[in-house]
Amino acid sequence: STTLDAVRLREDFPILQQEVNGHPLVYLDSGATSQKPRQVLQAEYDFLTRSNAAVHRGAHTLAAEATDLFEDARSTVARFVGAREEQLVWTSGATLGLNLVAYSIGNATLGRGAPASARFALQPGDEIVATETEHHANLIPWQELAARTGAVLRHIPVQDDGRLDLDAAAQLIGERTRIVAFSHVSNVLGIVNPVAEIVALAQKVGALTVLDACQSAPHMRLDLPAMGVDLAVFSGHKMLGPYGIGGLYGRSDVLEALPPFLTGGSMITTVTLDEAGYLPPPQRFEAGTQPIGPAIGLAAAVSYLENAGMSSVHAHEVRLAERMREGLVDIPGIRLLGDAPGAERVGLWSFVVDGVHAHDAGQFLDAQGIAVRVGHHCAAPLHRRFGVTASVRASAALYNTDTDVDALVDAVSGIRSYFGVNE
Ligand code: PMP
Repeated sequence: STTLDAVRLREDFPILQQEVNGHPLVYLDSGATSQKPRQVLQAEYDFLTRSNAAVHRGAHTLAAEATDLFEDARSTVARFVGAREEQLVWTSGATLGLNLVAYSIGNATLGRGAPASARFALQPGDEIVATETEHHANLIPWQELAARTGAVLRHIPVQDDGRLDLDAAAQLIGERTRIVAFSHVSNVLGIVNPVAEIVALAQKVGALTVLDACQSAPHMRLDLPAMGVDLAVFSGHKMLGPYGIGGLYGRSDVLEALPPFLTGGSMITTVTLDEAGYLPPPQRFEAGTQPIGPAIGLAAAVSYLENAGMSSVHAHEVRLAERMREGLVDIPGIRLLGDAPGAERVGLWSFVVDGVHAHDAGQFLDAQGIAVRVGHHCAAPLHRRFGVTASVRASAALYNTDTDVDALVDAVSGIRSYFGVNE
């Protein structure tokens, strides 16, 4: 892979050209949301100033243009994750995508939807398996589904080093397992989970696999069909795209058999006062007017990532992660979460500073223009598992440089003395 010229790429990101608190902005919070290049803003601007109209159904020229742009965006984003356009459902983000899946399975359990949906019906005592590392978005929808159906939610444990315990997973995933939901990359640990192994365990017992690809989609090439997962979600705003847009990928046979979650306009065949027929996927899952501009913006974002080259992006960020680790690991009183030797990672590290609350550390860094995330990062159970309530998370994207990493390491090395913590 060719080397990424992050210094040049940064010129495409207007927001990165500023000073914060008298220092050049060091943005290391892309795990929460990424910055957006001007190409994405331009794509939305062009749509809104030239072609804006509601898609499908329109008899006029702008409606046809908007429909073409919207469906081209779907093809572009589907291709980015190795899928075909009919396998990509627009959502407002990963949270909606995961709720959509959980509620659709709940509807199948109620006997709603296509006859084939019976394959998703849950019985009391059936098991849903998640992991101890999940973001709340890939945890609470399953808690709710379990509560509504009488299914039991179980969790693959994480080891002290941050890797999932695959032996425990092999014990947990059994005859009663109907769903296995897990993240490709934890938004706290930054470790790439062994998708193939987990998918193999699930397939052996015929369980549905649901992958949370939020933290991998912006950072590595994904071929979701080749990975063998049944369903997967990602968020546009974490991958250089706009807010309010995301994707749900599904294997065709799975999407075809899944009942809808939200209902209303644009997802129906015929409607009477008493009942309605539903369109095939993806329209079945896209009730109401869709975020057309954001979809077009997301297509521009993935095109931007592809122009940079996903293997170059990945290599660049892995290098930044290594540089970050080398700098942080020797600072007294800094504990990295998930520092598993040899683990495959993205450019993200969470750490705790002995004797200093994460929020204080975050403010100290902000005073030097360094933007990081502090708290439990919507993964409270995982923090509890590691015996802490909060951590500091530094997460990189393709526009970060060695200078950013060095500024972080330099500032972190001063935290404990600033707060008067003894060595
Ligand atoms: N899963 C993971 C791993 C995440 O990092 C996030 C965002 N923090 C989400 C799900 C939820 O994404 P969104 O808030 O964009 O719906």
